[in-house]
Amino acid sequence: MATIENKFPGKDVSADDLKTKIPLVANYTSKAFRVAGVTFNGKKIPVMAGPNMVESEDLIVKTAKAVKKAGASFLRGGAFKPLSFPYRSKKYNESGLDGLKWLSVAKKEASIPVITEIMESKYLDAMVDVADIMQIGSRNMQNYPLITDVASTGKPIMLKRHYGASLRDWLGAAEYALIAGCKHIILCERGMSVAHTHKSSSRYLLDLQVIPAIKEMSSISVASDPSHATFWRDWVPPMSLASISAGADSIMIEVHPDPKNAAVDPLQPIDFKSFKSLMSQMDKTARAISRKVL
Ligand code: PEP
Ligand code: MN
Repeated sequence: MATIENKFPGKDVSADDLKTKIPLVANYTSKAFRVAGVTFNGKKIPVMAGPNMVESEDLIVKTAKAVKKAGASFLRGGAFKPLSFPYRSKKYNESGLDGLKWLSVAKKEASIPVITEIMESKYLDAMVDVADIMQIGSRNMQNYPLITDVASTGKPIMLKRHYGASLRDWLGAAEYALIAGCKHIILCERGMSVAHTHKSSSRYLLDLQVIPAIKEMSSISVASDPSHATFWRDWVPPMSLASISAGADSIMIEVHPDPKNAAVDPLQPIDFKSFKSLMSQMDKTARAISRKVL
């Protein structure tokens, strides 16, 4: 591990922080680990793919089969969603406990493990039966009681970075999970709010520098989610390849059978055909740095 010089403290993580504020993060040594038969931080980079929202049983089963066939290791999809505005319609509505049931059908029918977001501790019991990895979303990154409750289930956690959080804040949140007993944690970069994002429809800027920054301090697994970061499907393939080049240990990608008609964030998912082709491009990129995707 590189030594962090602390001659000019004040910006973000200091050498002292590593000792006194985030010792479990700094000393985290689980280099490679397995979740539901999938190895993280090994040579092969796992890809988690699926729709933003678990819209229906048919959609999630169909998507699970397609992404599995293309080589994805995990099915993603939210039954509980932190939607930005409170108004709902028949289409734009969380599927909740029904969605969890549909995820478990998809998991069985496609034989693929599941990562899904938990927003409230009251759903923990329902979640643990379905989720192989519990996702804690950006908006809950600093919800310490939720992090603590999820960590105490013993399930692996993927902690997404809040779009305004410093690395120091993010690692502080990860420390809460580790202190509560979480054995396997994945930190997912999903784009930062910045003044300038190159396109009115691209909401965030993918912070790729954070990947080597984390790796200087910890062996914690780092994921990248170019779909939420770019909010723009055409940019998902190049930023996925860039994420792999920057050292991401896993990649999360939104995939939908009919992207333009996705109930949530229809600008960001890619279709099955593009996903298959992206898997092969990611594999080529990974092989250039002695890793692989397929
Ligand atoms: C998601 O993965 O569906 C999601 C809501 O992500 P984020 O928390 O990064 O916005
Ligand atoms: Mn989303």
